[in-house]
Amino acid sequence: MNEFYVERLANENGDHVVHRHGCPSLPAKSTLHYIGVRSSIEAPLQEAAFYWASQSAPCPECMTG
Ligand SMILES: [Zn+2]
Repeated sequence: MNEFYVERLANENGDHVVHRHGCPSLPAKSTLHYIGVRSSIEAPLQEAAFYWASQSAPCPECMTG
């Protein structure tokens, strides 16, 4: 099981980056929205895009593999 977070601010591409708990590049908690525990990486990405009515993207450091 993994806990997921999404950055509240979009990056330069307009994407809200989704991170796994424990990511070495996880920004300050105050800049994150907690998604929760999910069993796949697709679910938090879809939820992040829905929540922000925007685009989401997986963090290249913690969301690969
Ligand atoms: Zn990450």
